[in-house]
Amino acid sequence: MDGTFNENDLSRVIAADKANVWHHLIQHKPFEENDPRIIVEGKGMRVWDQNGKEWLDAVSGGVWTVNVGYGREEIAKAVYDQLMKLCYFAQSAGSIPGALFAEKLIEKMPGMSRVYYNNSGSEANEKAFKMVRQIAHKKYGGKKTKILYRDRDYHGSTLAAMSAGGQEERNMQYGPFAPDFVKVPHCMEYRKHELGLEHLSGKEFGIAAANQIEEIILREGPDTVGALCLEPVTAGGGVIEAPEGYWPRVQEICKQYDILLHIDEVVCGVGRTGTWFGYQHYGIEPDFVTMAKGVASGYAAIACLVTTEAVFDMFKDDASDPLNYFRDISTFGGCTAGPAAALVNMQIIEDEDLLENCVAMGERMKSNLEALMEKHQVIGDVRGKGLFLGAELVADRETKEPVDEKLAQAVVAECGNQNVIIGVTNRSIPGKNNTLCFSPALIVTPEDVDKITDAVDVALTKVFG
Ligand code: PMP
Repeated sequence: MDGTFNENDLSRVIAADKANVWHHLIQHKPFEENDPRIIVEGKGMRVWDQNGKEWLDAVSGGVWTVNVGYGREEIAKAVYDQLMKLCYFAQSAGSIPGALFAEKLIEKMPGMSRVYYNNSGSEANEKAFKMVRQIAHKKYGGKKTKILYRDRDYHGSTLAAMSAGGQEERNMQYGPFAPDFVKVPHCMEYRKHELGLEHLSGKEFGIAAANQIEEIILREGPDTVGALCLEPVTAGGGVIEAPEGYWPRVQEICKQYDILLHIDEVVCGVGRTGTWFGYQHYGIEPDFVTMAKGVASGYAAIACLVTTEAVFDMFKDDASDPLNYFRDISTFGGCTAGPAAALVNMQIIEDEDLLENCVAMGERMKSNLEALMEKHQVIGDVRGKGLFLGAELVADRETKEPVDEKLAQAVVAECGNQNVIIGVTNRSIPGKNNTLCFSPALIVTPEDVDKITDAVDVALTKVFG
């Protein structure tokens, strides 16, 4: 096999895939009974598979990634030109797109100051954890090494990122995990009974949920806690936006106990929720922001860890000590394709007013989904922000018992029968993935929003009657 691809030779590709590829998140035994779905091409909101079947992609490449849609020639061209000029050099030196993208990114993040380049969301988060640990040793005599993470949040697939993972399904059987990662409760109003806060709602609930973080800090000892790591809107844990009151209280708690605030924008970052970054809805001032998926919309692998100047400064003091700096490297953080693609990606979002479209189309999609709640008792809750939405399916609206995961999967399959790709998530309770998720590209039109929610309507009727 010479690796070249002939359009007429798809059977060879399928055979090569079946014989050689280990797919992500797949139990291969039943999967191998059929041919894998090979996605061959994409344009705008649509992709085509090996059989020429056209799919409307309501999840931006499956996992909230292709924010500006497929087939963007201007990104491909910028990457091509950059690769021909310089493909790579280690990040101890600079690159033209690396400098220019960092400048553009910081313009969108008032209060933030420095961009550290990596390859993946997991890696960016790990780097933030390392900075927290190093600060603990440099500044606090080895105390303040603890990192708080939240139930239902996810921060990546590598071992320290998993140690900060609040989703049981992803963590089971992979322990033991790294020490000094401490879980705090979720902030999900729909399941507030799990927190013993069923008597509160709205802002009062939000403040009380944040106060539960304070309780953990006091239990652990504030002088042992270095950072709090949170998703602005929780993704894989069920698409959860914190209620009003939560974020200002979180900020207050962090300031009071001298705890660094790390916001994981791997999903929300670069437009997904209708602002450049999810945290910007809530007026908070993070110390670390990590981002990946939408940064270059999947046209190249890139992830960024962005810090404040105050954090950066902590690694600049006492230059007479030769070991006193952030002793870390990411080989592929030096790939120039990432920032070259990211620069054009951001320009597209600006030129085409995609943040505004995200807000308008998000509202349309949310109200379509809310309308479906009247017809389909199985939808217990509709949540999310911008074009980052979820619909939780429950067997009983009173008890909120999740539907059998197989039924949620059947809804996804029924949408597939109508050529619409949606997702299902909620990895918090093993085997209970029951939240349909929707995250179309920010270019989505009203017609396509309606097509997606119409497909969900039909699918729910087929599965639940
Ligand atoms: N953080 C969040 C919130 C995520 O959703 C993900 C990936 N789904 C990650 C981190 C990890 O990113 P990656 O897969 O690029 O390592």
